[in-house]
Amino acid sequence: MSSPPVDDFIAREARFGARNYEPLGVVLSRGEGVFVWDTQGNRYLDCLSAYSALNQGHCHPKILAAMVEQAGRLTLTSRAFHNDQLAPFYEEIAELTGSHKVLPMNSGAEAVESAIKSVRKWGYEVKGVPDGQAEIIVCANNFHGRTLGVVGFSTDAATREHFGPFAPGFRIIPFGDLAALEAAITPNTVAFLVEPIQGEAGVIIPPAGYFTGVRELCTAHEVMLILDEIQTGLGRTGKLLAEQHEGIEADVTLLGKALSGGFYPVSAVLSNNEVLGTLKPGQHGSTFGGNPLACAVARAALRVLVEEGMIENAAVQGERFLQGLGSIRANTVREVRGRGLMLAVELNPEAGRARRYCEALQLEGILAKDTHEHTIRFAPPLVITSDQVDWALERIAAILTQDLT
Ligand SMILES: *Cc1c(COP(=O)(O)O)cnc(C)c1O
Repeated sequence: MSSPPVDDFIAREARFGARNYEPLGVVLSRGEGVFVWDTQGNRYLDCLSAYSALNQGHCHPKILAAMVEQAGRLTLTSRAFHNDQLAPFYEEIAELTGSHKVLPMNSGAEAVESAIKSVRKWGYEVKGVPDGQAEIIVCANNFHGRTLGVVGFSTDAATREHFGPFAPGFRIIPFGDLAALEAAITPNTVAFLVEPIQGEAGVIIPPAGYFTGVRELCTAHEVMLILDEIQTGLGRTGKLLAEQHEGIEADVTLLGKALSGGFYPVSAVLSNNEVLGTLKPGQHGSTFGGNPLACAVARAALRVLVEEGMIENAAVQGERFLQGLGSIRANTVREVRGRGLMLAVELNPEAGRARRYCEALQLEGILAKDTHEHTIRFAPPLVITSDQVDWALERIAAILTQDLT
């Protein structure tokens, strides 16, 4: 069987597509578990997992079966009518995460936007903040998505530049700095929006105890703690939610990405207080949010995550992967970071661009993604085995000990 050459797909993409991505030169046509295959039949270990949307692995058979079954029965009702998948989805996700209320959306950025709207409304109607004065605190180097509302409080030049004007009402503080949080809180602060571990910034793990302090400050000042667990959640860090590493509970938790196991965009705002209760009919919505296909897929995605021990496996294999990366002796490596299967190698600036190492890894059968010039991120599906981790480590070590400047 022959397929058009790789360059042909890439050139056609370039000709017709907006060039808002710079993908590695590989064209994929099939995936199964931790592996993907390109159009030429070469196999790769996927160490990106679509930015953690594929925690359950590619094309998980049980999620696929749920999707196919539901797709043949009922896909979309809109929220103008009830459907028989939404209630069980609510019950199951609330039970699993210990949440009281659920708002279903589609993309991660929509979940972030929905949380911002909800906490503002809560601020005006419950906390008593004067209308139009609500403030939300966020962190430098955050990543919460690409909508206008969200990029307005990014600190990354490429993300923001020439997309303004932006919405006011956000204060930016350094990540991991409790004193800065305390200083930024005013009587008009309604929420602190933060990632448990900053993913796109390069897997930045805050100092131990940071989130315990954050929780205390938020409670003391009646500020809603919104944890964006769109990337860290659903097993990625070796716990169902990354907040569990800190023994805290957010007021509002955002999930997306792996909530559908990579089949379909499904996101959710979860809250354990009155925040979502402020939304009344007609005040917020989404045509596709909570549709029966999304709910059926998400239910299956959550079920296999728990039933197949993927969260525990992420903890075990993450430890193995981190140890292995840490034992690579190479001048190129400046630091190795990780929790669970959310891992990164930061290169010394003299080692050259991380992209070059990702290209070299591709030739060895590993797909990984550079972030911020000098960092390579490793985030395989949570179904990875010890043998596969060892296989990857051997190849990663071989590449990192080369000079690719
Ligand atoms: C990916 C991501 C988002 C945005 O999700 P989209 O589905 O791409 O809109 C938001 N927050 C975090 C932490 C993410 O990793």
